[in-house]
This record gives sequence, C-alpha cells and structure tokens, in this order.
Amino acid sequence: MATPAWAKRKKVEEVPTVAGTLIDNVEGLTPDGKGGIEHFEGFLISPDGHVAEVYHAGDKRPERVQYKLDGRGRVVVPGMIDAHGHVMATGFAKMTLDLSSATSLDEALSRIAAWTAAHPDAPWILGSGWNQVQWGLDRMPTAAELDAGTGGKPAWLTRVDGHAGWANSAALEAAGITAATPDPEGGEILHIAGSGKPAGVFIDAATALIASKQPKARPEDRDTALGEAQLALLAQGVTAIADMGTSIEDWQAFRRAADIGHLRIRIVSYALSLDDMVLIGGPGPTPWLYGDRLKMNGLKLFLDGALGSRGAWLKAPYADDAKTSGLPQMTRTQLGNRMSRAALDNFQVAVHAIGDEANKTVLDAIDELSATYKGDRRWRVEHAQIVDPTDIPRFGEHGTIASMQPQHEASDRIMAEARLGPDRLAGAYAWKSIAATGATLAFGSDTPVEPARPFEGIAVAVTRQGPDGKPFLGWQPQEAISREAAINAYTTGAAYAMFAENKLGRIAPGYDADFLFVDTDPTLATPDEIRKTRVLETWIGGQRAWSAAKDEAAAQAPEPEAF
Ligand SMILES: [Zn+2]
Repeated sequence: MATPAWAKRKKVEEVPTVAGTLIDNVEGLTPDGKGGIEHFEGFLISPDGHVAEVYHAGDKRPERVQYKLDGRGRVVVPGMIDAHGHVMATGFAKMTLDLSSATSLDEALSRIAAWTAAHPDAPWILGSGWNQVQWGLDRMPTAAELDAGTGGKPAWLTRVDGHAGWANSAALEAAGITAATPDPEGGEILHIAGSGKPAGVFIDAATALIASKQPKARPEDRDTALGEAQLALLAQGVTAIADMGTSIEDWQAFRRAADIGHLRIRIVSYALSLDDMVLIGGPGPTPWLYGDRLKMNGLKLFLDGALGSRGAWLKAPYADDAKTSGLPQMTRTQLGNRMSRAALDNFQVAVHAIGDEANKTVLDAIDELSATYKGDRRWRVEHAQIVDPTDIPRFGEHGTIASMQPQHEASDRIMAEARLGPDRLAGAYAWKSIAATGATLAFGSDTPVEPARPFEGIAVAVTRQGPDGKPFLGWQPQEAISREAAINAYTTGAAYAMFAENKLGRIAPGYDADFLFVDTDPTLATPDEIRKTRVLETWIGGQRAWSAAKDEAAAQAPEPEAF
C-alpha cells in the first residue's frame, strides 16, 4: 500500500538533526593507520571536537546537520605535528633580534647596530639566529666585533643551533669572565690566540656563564612569546608540538594561557631537567589537560652539543679540528642515572644525540635500561644526525623512536661534510636506513633552529635537496623516503612518539578534529610545489584556530553555515 502524502511529509520532519559540523566536498587525505595514505570526500565533527564519521565517494551523509561547510574542492590534510621544537624560544626569537637571514658578518653587525639604536631602553641587546657558516666565515665572530654596534650595553646573541652564544665586552664584564675563567664541564670558552683573553663565543655548557646574567624574562614577556609562537606554528599548519625542554616557568606560561582559553595549539612537554620534571609532573607524567591541549610526558636530556659549534660528540676527532671530538654534556653514568630516575616514575625519556659517539652512547643506555624498565617506554633519540652505520640497526630495538628533522639535512650538509670528512657520512641524516630497522620516524623542525614548516620538511625528506634545488640529484639520495612515509612521520609517527597515536595524526573516527585546508595535494604535487604549500586554514578540535584570509586581512573565509 502506498504511503499517503501526509505521512511522507511527517516522516521528513522527523529526521533528527545531527549535532556537529559536516565538512564536505573536499579532496581529503589522511594516513590510513597502516603507513599509507587514504582519500576521502567529507567528514563529520562531533560537538566535542572529534571526528565522528569520514565519508568516501558514494557514502550517505546525514540529511540534516547542525552546521555544514562546503570545502569547495579544497585539499584537507591532518594537522601537522612537530615532533621536536622549542615553543618559548620560537616566540622569543620573534621578540628579539633575529639574525637568521644575515648572509655576512657585516650584514649581521649593521642589523645589530640598527636594533640597538631602535631599542634605547633595552638593558641588554638580546638576539639569536646567527650562523658563521652562512656568513662564509671560517672562524667564530669576536666580542670586539660586537662592541662596535652595541653602544657599551651588554649584548648576548645565541647561535642558530642554540648551542653557542656570542657576547660583547660589556657582557663579558657583567659576567666577570676573564682569561683566568676555566671552561666548565661540557663547555668551552673560546680564547684569542696568543693573549688568552676570552674571544666572546661560548659553547654549550659555557653559555650559562653569560645567559645566567641576562635579565630574566618576566611572566608577561613569556605570555607574549607564547602568543607569538602559537601564531607562527598555526600559520604553518602545526597543530601539535613536542616542546623539547620545558622549564617550570614555561609550563606556568602554558597553563596561564590555557586557563583563559588562549592555548590553541596542543603542547606535549619534555622537561628541561629532572628538577623541572618533578616540579611539573610530581609523581609521574600529567594526564591530558584542557581538552587535550597540554600534557607533560617526560624528560629531555642533552647528551652532546651540535655540529656547527663542534659540540657534537664524535667517535673520532673532527676532520676540520683534530684537537676535539666534541663536548659530551654528561658522563655515561650520569646519563644512565638520569634516564633511570625518569623511567622509574614512568616518565618518557628523550635524549638529544647528534654525534656518532653520542648516538652510540644513548643506544647503549637504552639497551641496558630496557632490561629493568619493561613495557612500552618509547625511548626517544632526538636528532640522531650522525650515526655510525654499525649502530643503525640498534634503532630497531626496544621500540626506540628516531626523532629527526629533515630541514637540518638541507641546511647543514656542507658543514657536516667539513666537520666529518667524506668517509664518515654514510649514516648522516639516514632517515630511510633508520626507518628500515623498524624504528618509528617522528619528524620535526627544531624550531626556532629551523622554521616550523612541515611541508618544506616533507619536500626535503623526499628529495634530499634544499630550496635551491641543490644538490642536483639530492645529497645521499639513497636516504630519501617516500612522500607517504614523510607525511606519516609528521603525523602518525610524531603522534606515536608522544603517546598520542589514538588521538592525533589522522582524520578518522574518534580522533581529535585537527586538520588543515591547504592549496596543494602533497600526494600529487611536485616536491617544489609541496615546499611552497600555503596553509589556508588551521582547525584544532573542530574549531578554526587560524585562517590565512583573516591573517592577511583579505576576504573572510566563509563561516560554517547553520543548516
Ligand atoms: Zn632542539
């Protein structure tokens, strides 16, 4: 019997409205959870900010929904996760003198002079980002050179890698540094050949001699820095970041922001020291706080320095300075004890290791500690830049995570060749070989050392080339990885590395609705197009957290329409 017309009408009226937001008509792509990428056309976000359903071609959508956004065929990808960054330093780099684009010592000095003139009230001249290699200088700059433009005020400028600092004479005086000041353990004070006077540059542990004298950032400065960092990250499509070295003051700034609803990105903290770890976490890692916005997972340890300032701990002396093999920041025993102290209370451990001896040492320590600390520990090796090929297979053991930064390879390859010579580079930035051992690859930027630009990182990962397209066929191109693997390393891999693989990194039912509208499909575009990807909108927890249209004060992006 045919249904009468009135009954049909009634039936239509009874279709319930589905709560949430339907985003439809997109070119969606997401990691499939098995290492590959799958495509979709639309998805439903629940009112609590999770992905409720994902729709593929031909799938039935809900008839009535609270909000609906027509994606107009734009590309949607999951929010990118930066597995290794420094949130507060990223913000402070925006607030102080940024020398990262200076291409010569003269240019740096004239910018320092201009900054000094423009900030007459600043008690100290503070900044970062300098790189003598980028200036074509085969030595470090000096205090005397810095004196010229700094008007007698103390100046302290951090090197791009954060592992060295450059002081002027007033800063040396403020810190009481003389020819007689000894090198601290794990640090080096550079001296002027002949006179023995301090030259102005301090490496690794020695940087604290000056840094401890600079005016301490006020809580309100930290709040501003966090705001600046969030903007920089959101604009590049980073929706979550592992903060590698959170101090108690940093943590308080994160919480102050979250308390008033200003924490938009998700931050997973690794404490700067055992003291910070205990102050922040108390008896163990924190739970997810503020609706999955903030969590403290564990401890960051620095086992060595960086290659640029010859602090990376190598198995043999530097090819371009036979007097040193680097600056280990702790003994093997101290490393084991600190890792053990953290693991005892189930804190996750992330160890900075750049040189081949540092990498071997942390792999030894993981080997040893794994006998005592069973279960799912996810020991993290941060950087893993120069690994002896005989040690590479060890990354596949004990569930070790290789937290690596593709942009470092492009920026540092020429310097790495100089520091190591041609015969010790087989395990340098060896993403493919390390992944082949079964270790999880988690990619990040080390922001502010490199800008947090995940799409640039994906382009480097698949080409082993810099923005200039050099070298022509890629540097050690056998270590390039597939674009699927690179996208996974910035999403599922980075999420796994922070124990968030069931929440973050995919657009799939149950996951936090963190996603981007971008202008490029990274599975189809050329590497150069991927590098130039523009993020159009960044959504976190089902809310639009940033939009290029608003940021550029141009046409407003359409708000979701009430349906
Ligand atoms: Zn770092």
